[in-house]
Amino acid sequence: MKEDLKVYNDALQLVGNTPLIKLNRITKDLTGDFYAKVEAFNPGHSTKDRIALYIIEEAERKGILKPGDTIIETTSGNTGFSIAMVSVIKGYECILAVSSKSSADKIDMLKSLGAKVYVCPAHVSADDPRSYYEVAKRLHQEIKGSVYINQYFNELNIDAHYNTTGPEIWKQTEGEITHLVACSGTGGTISGTARFLKEQNPDIQIIGIDAYGSVLKKYHETREFDENEIYPYRIEGLGKNLIPTATDFDVIDRFVKVSDEESAHTARMISKTEGLFVGYTSGAAFQGVKQLAEEEIFDANSKVVIIFPDHGSRYMSKIYSDDWMQEQGFSDSENLVDAEKI
Ligand code: PMP
Repeated sequence: MKEDLKVYNDALQLVGNTPLIKLNRITKDLTGDFYAKVEAFNPGHSTKDRIALYIIEEAERKGILKPGDTIIETTSGNTGFSIAMVSVIKGYECILAVSSKSSADKIDMLKSLGAKVYVCPAHVSADDPRSYYEVAKRLHQEIKGSVYINQYFNELNIDAHYNTTGPEIWKQTEGEITHLVACSGTGGTISGTARFLKEQNPDIQIIGIDAYGSVLKKYHETREFDENEIYPYRIEGLGKNLIPTATDFDVIDRFVKVSDEESAHTARMISKTEGLFVGYTSGAAFQGVKQLAEEEIFDANSKVVIIFPDHGSRYMSKIYSDDWMQEQGFSDSENLVDAEKI
């Protein structure tokens, strides 16, 4: 059992220093040691607590933010939740401009943490004044002393992980990590963590996980933006239809693409076999590991760290709903039978 019985002044003191947990069962056919950096242990249940806290505290240090000022962002996902949490604890207003495609559950979650939510039409283009990008930009210009987090284009997103996730993993593995496997959305997690780890040991292999339907892998290989790569997919938070400046493609050795279906089954398998109730992209990350293992890139000396970005509770009406799985045509239950055999 955990021995730390410290008392904390507020939930923000619990951001970061997440556990590294060895995966013991789902890895039984793989060669090497595999460890999950389980970001659901953050108080806001995802890795985004790190960037919300870091970017807001940087703005405080620079004197940009004063008590009562406003933080603005354009997301209904984990980043929105983390910014709302940090704002309520530190006494800032939080405005989140979200797409009307966002589920009512997500919007209610953000409102529960005191955020003001602007629901913007999903059907308009990004440069339409009604789009959530434009609404956020306009509010940022209008509200004096406001901070726009702008996670896809904010270098501080990388710095947050360079200063926290990277050093934690280096320490937790006592410098023995050989591979880092992480999902890439804004790219902040993989870029910041990799930048720190490569400085310690340039031989560490950095593998990004991308979705079919996203441009990141192709861009990494060609440095060209290929619109033909873009089509709709189900996994949220992974991959992108634009090139974020919060991704440092130079510190990433390669990308692996994973499918919606296999990632969903793999997330369910992690919960069933390891007792770690993880989100969709954790399934995507481990699906990538399985594909890499098929290429035999790991050996008995490999120490592979996989970042599990968030908690499964956010996906009850998605990957953890049998009905949803069936609606997507993901009804193949072979993996579930396998889980019982392990
Ligand atoms: N998984 C989930 C669930 C996320 O919300 C995100 C953030 N978009 C990621 C993975 C990817 O992290 P990053 O943005 O740091 O690349």
